Amino acid sequence: MSLIKSRMEAIAAATSWRESPSKPAEQMERLEEIFGADVFSERVMRERLPKDIFQRLMRTIKKAERLDAELADVVASAMKDWAIERGATHYTHWFQPLTGLTAEKHDSFISPDGAGGFIMQFSGSALTQGEPDASSFPSGGIRATFEARGYTAWDPMSPVFLNRSGSNVTLCIPTAFVSWTGEALDTKTPLLRSVDALSEQAMRVLRFFGTHQGVNRVLTTVGPEQEYFLVDRNLYFSRPDLLTCDRTLFGARPPKGQQLEDHYFGSIPARVLAFMAEVERELYRLGVPVKTRHNEVAPAQYEIAPIFENSIVACDHQMLLMETLKRVAPRYGLQCILHEKPFAGINGSGKHNNWSMSTDTGVNLLDPRDETHTNMQFLTFCCAVVRAVDLHADLLRAAIAGASNDHRLGANEAPPAIISIFLGDMLTDIMEQLEKGQTKRTIKGGKLDLGARTLPLLPRDSGDRNRTSPFAFTGNKFEFRAVGSSQTSAWPNTVLNTIVAESLDYVATQLEKAAGKNPSPQKVQQAVRSVLARIVKQHKRVIFNGDGYSEAWHKEADRRGLPHLRDSVDALPVIRSRKACDLMSRYKVLTKVEMQSRCTIFLEKYVKQVAIEAETMASMVRTQIIPAVLQHQRRLAEAVAATQAADVGCSEQRDVLEGYVEAAGRMHEALSGLEKALHHHAAGDEMDHAKHVRSHVKPAMAKLRDAVDTLETMTSEDLWPLPSYRDLLFIK
Ligand code: ADP
Ligand code: MG
Repeated sequence: MSLIKSRMEAIAAATSWRESPSKPAEQMERLEEIFGADVFSERVMRERLPKDIFQRLMRTIKKAERLDAELADVVASAMKDWAIERGATHYTHWFQPLTGLTAEKHDSFISPDGAGGFIMQFSGSALTQGEPDASSFPSGGIRATFEARGYTAWDPMSPVFLNRSGSNVTLCIPTAFVSWTGEALDTKTPLLRSVDALSEQAMRVLRFFGTHQGVNRVLTTVGPEQEYFLVDRNLYFSRPDLLTCDRTLFGARPPKGQQLEDHYFGSIPARVLAFMAEVERELYRLGVPVKTRHNEVAPAQYEIAPIFENSIVACDHQMLLMETLKRVAPRYGLQCILHEKPFAGINGSGKHNNWSMSTDTGVNLLDPRDETHTNMQFLTFCCAVVRAVDLHADLLRAAIAGASNDHRLGANEAPPAIISIFLGDMLTDIMEQLEKGQTKRTIKGGKLDLGARTLPLLPRDSGDRNRTSPFAFTGNKFEFRAVGSSQTSAWPNTVLNTIVAESLDYVATQLEKAAGKNPSPQKVQQAVRSVLARIVKQHKRVIFNGDGYSEAWHKEADRRGLPHLRDSVDALPVIRSRKACDLMSRYKVLTKVEMQSRCTIFLEKYVKQVAIEAETMASMVRTQIIPAVLQHQRRLAEAVAATQAADVGCSEQRDVLEGYVEAAGRMHEALSGLEKALHHHAAGDEMDHAKHVRSHVKPAMAKLRDAVDTLETMTSEDLWPLPSYRDLLFIK
């Protein structure tokens, strides 16, 4: 029997979902008891490791130093005991290859005891390094399969955790994944390197201001807000496009979409809330501090956001979060869709990447405090970010490129593809003062009187928010909003950390030069003023507080000379540009070879992803749409013939039939157009293929979609083989 249900069967199944009685409250696990229960955390290590070993390990982690072998043996053994007590039988190095997903290869703890039996064993070397081979992951030409050694190396910055699936428990060790020549084959390695780079330069700035005492490192902090869709799984299985591409390739707009904004922040449907609560419980066990849940703008769209953490852990947790959403949804008869644009004409999903810099003692370096104009250290870090984003807007844009995010960026509901910064009134005002060389005041928000005596006076922010900016200052952090919902956080953060590292390097050098050796406080002030004034002058063009969706901004951005890389094919080649390669290699984040390999991988992925979509479209039309259309056409034709035979006039019905046949003709024509575009093999490298896809395949897909969507509105509901947008978006 086919897995694919007919539309009517699927709807019947979808609407029959019943909530199973939930556990009574007293049986529910308490949050504080389960939080971090599956994490080999600092607390567990303190309890289980000999004191001196624990202290040495903590020093290694906090100072980001290398781990020695003897220490690793003791830690591994304690880890194994802890995991086995919790039911684990296997361990795995858990890594993030350039597929954008996570990877694991499990080994059991059993080891021969030399006397014909087995013991449970886990050595320090098994903890710290592995050789999964894993030769089939994309390497962009770095590895040939015949010399396919790949190594994984434990990243002690990120906590070890237990993965539960049914009754299977696996000890997961977050690792970096590199080739035997040392080139990074994953997203974690460059992220770690980028944090080191930023830390080194940020420490110079702190030293300049004399605020470095007690600080070992500067970290970046990340709190990603994840948007996603949920659709009923029965309907999902009846849509080959959702099943294979995670987005609908067809679908006429329903009369009701999101016009009424009645879903946004609305009360959460019962089934969805039950799902969210289970996701959260699983994430709490893994130590992921999820905080916020709500309905998003589009019908069937939701959001989950954790409390921010240091970027290394946050990016690992973000992968766990996406996987948990996907894994738990089927238990509630749902499918979680992380694609950036699952439905045409309906809002897409992003992953707002909240980002800041913090000392390892917990001081947020992007906190402006009350009298911001006097807070020269904050202004220095802030200006360094502005400079970085202006200088490397192209690379930042490239870091979020991909076939799926192309549907979102630049459309009128998501940030434009032009990278600019929203600073808000207070900071923009201070920037203007800085440019003139004197900072004298901080605009205050004052209090907001709500006019009803029982309501409190609210402190008001000094400026409103802006939803249209791709990169916005939001109080004490920047929010990079252009990141796509399905993307890994690691890569955009790697780029962000590195461009800011370069900027801090520049700023520190300029400050040190301007102030001279052992500067007096006045000299420090003067140096800061002159350096920041210059930076503001040179880079203020990237600051834009207005409506990023407007046509006027596109013109204005063009006039300011800001890069406008409209799609992935424009943006991805930036990754292998001389400028980007020089930057990333100067800060030892990625070599030229590693950058080029990434560019190749992303371009290939773009081509493959669109080709899969195009093939799926063609096959759906041939095997599902055409048969349905022919049936409907026959019904119409038979009705007309029968009416005419009865000698009754039916010119309107004839018109309907003619119009239908015409529309079907347009579909046939569009199908052969798409097939032609697909079968034409562009010569050349992946860039040539990508260009072909953009200029031939994608327009042919759009044409076919248009023809099929028109037919959907003309065809009898009982014949149309695919659940409609209405079914997908409103059956909850
Ligand atoms: P919003 O008003 O944008 O919803 P929130 O304060 O709710 O802002 O934060 C949204 C996200 O930003 C959360 O994930 C939060 O943890 C994160 N965030 C807050 N402060 C920081 C910071 N200093 N660094 C990184 N992320 C942060
Ligand atoms: Mg936000």
